[in-house]
Amino acid sequence: MNPTPPSESGSLTPAAIGELVLDTTPWLSCDECFERMDTHVEALLRDPGHHDLAMDRHLQGCAACQEEVQSLRALLTSEGTARRGDHGPEAGSADQPGPLTR
Ligand SMILES: [Zn+2]
Repeated sequence: MNPTPPSESGSLTPAAIGELVLDTTPWLSCDECFERMDTHVEALLRDPGHHDLAMDRHLQGCAACQEEVQSLRALLTSEGTARRGDHGPEAGSADQPGPLTR
């Protein structure tokens, strides 16, 4: 029994490496998760079979984002129609980072 290695070094194509990377790191940061959350939840509501691997993975390991998804989902389902432009109570120069100019 002498298992031969399936591939010597040098036969790894960039595409193969890309697949490996995609497979092993679908993990999102919470910021990225939040950015996609609206879209993700809307897609879930439209299509219960919807899966976003990266989102799913993150939500499995992140209780905070999971709660956020659930509350967002409850919000969207209770309102019936998703209202757009509802992200900030005060759109404008409410939060301007940085020190005062004077
Ligand atoms: Zn998170």
